[in-house]
Amino acid sequence: MNSSSISAFVAKKRPTALEEFQIPKLRLRGVVVIRRSRSRPRSSIDDAFVNEPGVIGIGVQPLPTSVCLIVYDLVINCIMRRSLNIFLAVLLLMAGCRKDDTVRLEPVPKAEGGKMNVILMIGDGMGMPQITAARTVSENGLNMLTCPVTGIQSTHSADEYVTDSGAAGTAIACGEKTNHYTVGVDVDGQPLTSIVESLEEQGLSTGLITTTQIMDATPAAFFAHQNDRFAYEPIAMELIGSGIDYLMGGGRKYLDQRTDGLNLIDSLITRGYQVAGQPGELGSSTGKAAIFIADDAPPAYLGGRGEVLTQAVEQAIQMLRTNPKGFFLMVEGGQIDWACENNDQDYLLAEMLDFDRAVGKALEYAHQDGNTLVIITGDHETGGYTLVGGDEQAHTVNGQFLTYQHTGTMIPVLAGGPGATAFSGVYENTGIYDRMAAFFGLEK
Ligand SMILES: [Zn+2]
Repeated sequence: MNSSSISAFVAKKRPTALEEFQIPKLRLRGVVVIRRSRSRPRSSIDDAFVNEPGVIGIGVQPLPTSVCLIVYDLVINCIMRRSLNIFLAVLLLMAGCRKDDTVRLEPVPKAEGGKMNVILMIGDGMGMPQITAARTVSENGLNMLTCPVTGIQSTHSADEYVTDSGAAGTAIACGEKTNHYTVGVDVDGQPLTSIVESLEEQGLSTGLITTTQIMDATPAAFFAHQNDRFAYEPIAMELIGSGIDYLMGGGRKYLDQRTDGLNLIDSLITRGYQVAGQPGELGSSTGKAAIFIADDAPPAYLGGRGEVLTQAVEQAIQMLRTNPKGFFLMVEGGQIDWACENNDQDYLLAEMLDFDRAVGKALEYAHQDGNTLVIITGDHETGGYTLVGGDEQAHTVNGQFLTYQHTGTMIPVLAGGPGATAFSGVYENTGIYDRMAAFFGLEK
């Protein structure tokens, strides 16, 4: 940050990145963000904290508001004086205030009229290396990295150090760690209640969007209860009665080419769904919608899937937003995982950028709406992917994979909008559910 950008920053008295998330509503609570211009030379302050252009986010939750404001003023003063030592002292003070690695949950202020929305975006297999690589190859940076709040989640399942998507999805969707290859059930096989089921019961609208089959583990964890995550026909049967308002993904054949001879597409229509093959084919009806973009697995982005993910996010928001009680939308970039399981970097980068464009649509809406919390995370890392070289100017990376499986590393969580500060800190994957449930005021 050079002297002119410091002046601009101080003059505005508001960090640029936070303005996008309506800082007056957050009352500056627990977050100080300094955005640095890409085009300007580095200064000593910047170099001390970041080696690359971008955004620095410092979460200070759960300090009281008054302390946060003092810290904020101190930071402003330090920048004005360019006093790195005092700035570091402030950071140490803030770090010292947190005795354990779990952020305490505080009540989230209710939005005006009580309407609250959550858009949860899960990059399946998306760890920090996948994000880093996509950031490097993107000419304009990543939408997800404009979020003002960052956290870290631990992904292990109840019975394995390295989780599968079923157990990880269940932890996020239902708030309980469970066993490998199960969805929506506890370690004893008993059904759990997902956040989608709880919100449906309360009359909110819900939606699930994925680039894999809608019966695949991550989306299934939000509506199904099966000891075998690959039981796609029983999972499809559960989908029919889920009441979810907007669905998009592959897997149509598990509804209309079933071993039991039933045609569940007809069941969907009977229940008031419009059924289509692409988001663009949907009529203007405001009822429920189910869009099956493939009989089984949808194509990869490089295989011609097109912009369906971004289109579906836009369309789902337009439909779900009409509910005066609010909505919950889960969006999965599901083939990030498949790309890494194939150790295919080109496949991975195309899926990451496709997912990030969809993230951009969600953030754009959240910015306009002001009552929408957006959370972006992964369910685990896949491939043991890491970066052994790259070129920021040429936007190229040299990545290598260690395994064809998932790995046990912790995963970043990015959040913006009302309630986002609760996602700062380090917590288990079940903590994602806990924070979303607190946002909606659900009893566990
Ligand atoms: Zn996964």
